[in-house]
Amino acid sequence: MNSNTVHFINILKKDLGESQIVSTGSFEVKDPRDRLLNKSEICIKPKNTKEVSKILRLAYKFMIPIIPVGGSTGLVGGQIAHENGQVILSLEKLNEINFYKKSNLLKVQSGAILSNIKNLASNHGRLFPLTLASEGSCQIGGNLATNAGGLNVIKYGNVRDLCLGLEAVLPSGKILSSMKSLKKNNMGFDLKNLLIGSEGTLGIITSAILKTFPIPKNPVSVFFSVNNLKDVLVIFEKISELFQDRILAFELIKNTGINFIKETGFLINDPFTKNTTWMVLMEIDVNIGPISLKESLEQILYDFILNNKIVEVFVANTLNQRDEFWKIRELIPSANRRKGSICSNDISVPVEKIPEFITKLDRSISSFSKDILVNCFGHVGDGNLHYNIFSSSAYNRHDLETKRLKLLNIVNNLVNKYSGSISAEHGIGRMKVSELNKFEDPGKLYMMKLIKSVIDPKNLLNPGVIF
Ligand SMILES: Cc1cc2nc3c(=O)[nH]c(=O)nc-3n(C[C@H](O)[C@H](O)[C@H](O)COP(=O)(O)OP(=O)(O)OC[C@H]3O[C@@H](n4cnc5c(N)ncnc54)[C@H](O)[C@@H]3O)c2cc1C
Repeated sequence: MNSNTVHFINILKKDLGESQIVSTGSFEVKDPRDRLLNKSEICIKPKNTKEVSKILRLAYKFMIPIIPVGGSTGLVGGQIAHENGQVILSLEKLNEINFYKKSNLLKVQSGAILSNIKNLASNHGRLFPLTLASEGSCQIGGNLATNAGGLNVIKYGNVRDLCLGLEAVLPSGKILSSMKSLKKNNMGFDLKNLLIGSEGTLGIITSAILKTFPIPKNPVSVFFSVNNLKDVLVIFEKISELFQDRILAFELIKNTGINFIKETGFLINDPFTKNTTWMVLMEIDVNIGPISLKESLEQILYDFILNNKIVEVFVANTLNQRDEFWKIRELIPSANRRKGSICSNDISVPVEKIPEFITKLDRSISSFSKDILVNCFGHVGDGNLHYNIFSSSAYNRHDLETKRLKLLNIVNNLVNKYSGSISAEHGIGRMKVSELNKFEDPGKLYMMKLIKSVIDPKNLLNPGVIF
């Protein structure tokens, strides 16, 4: 620790309790994919917004780089202190959650765990629809900082769309409070939406006001397989035309993903008996008051089978069956991690281009190397694909690791050609900075840098992330 940090910590110790300043070993900050290692020796755990403000004001004075950390589930390394001398700021002690019955709104502190927020909403008969496989550990502050997406974006949008009000502390220690629950508010710049998705580079998010929704009554989950990717799009377009915003999720799954789950020791009930490459798991809110659209849905599925668009289809008739289906989708990231990818790509392209895009990319990847397995899955309904590349055998793994950057380039160049995004939902973090500079519009990059330099002139908040 350098003398500035020692001084900084000694001053803080006068105000904060012992359990609020801890050293390496007593806190864990990790990269879920184990690519980056945390190098910070100190973690500070404020209990309220005023303490966050005090810490940042002091850090600003002593030139201490601060790395905000939520649940540490981020997949682009934004929560990792990559240099000695950086101090971790954990939000875990700011974890209050309140539900307001009259307005059906939630007021949450940023360290609240996503699943706790969802449970409280559900206890009041409401839905907080942000759904991620990491929801048992990620925090709402991290979700807002990364503008998280997940399974139900097609219906409810990203977390940005679920947030009405926000409180944050700027690098200087100044508190910015926009904790209004208004749908209409044009009083100047929309700074809430500037902070959402800024990955801890512009401010520490401390509180938020969130929307909740009615819980869909007995939505129907349908798992089906198709002969080819083009049929996925045909089915998606027809289902969208008929059910519009009643589609809660429309997820593409590859047989590689299901094989990975089985090979890595997870137990699932795989309903499919015929060999196909592509499957879709979708969920539709079929009940409008007393009217049920379930029969119409079943009729459409039947027509798809007759027209040879669907190979096999399974409709969940019980909650247990529904959970079995969704367990398969939710286990894909964990199985991927057990397998260990060469590279993972969180990308999006226009929905109507998905079949053509995947076919072209698969072709380029397999002409680059025959030793590759691709597990592509994702949220077709919003154009977001997770295109993860694996070595087909342990023997070739090292060789492919050395070609990782070339593989990333093949993926990103094609994404760019399709006017897509090289980061659909995970953010830029520390891992995609050079790609951002390569593929983002120069005018946007210029403005982002300008904003960062004004709000954080000493570059102390999450240095190395995005910029
Ligand atoms: C199994 C698994 C599944 C996932 N599925 C999805 C998915 O479907 N969709 C999706 O979008 N993401 C997904 N993720 C990624 C991850 O869960 C999200 O990015 C999540 O929003 C991160 O929240 P966190 O609290 O863990 O943040 P962290 O990982 O701790 O931090 C993420 C970033 O936010 C910053 N940050 C954290 N808290 C604050 C704060 N209070 N104020 C300011 N900055 C802050 C950090 O500095 C960092 O840059 C998944 C991850 C895993 C491991």
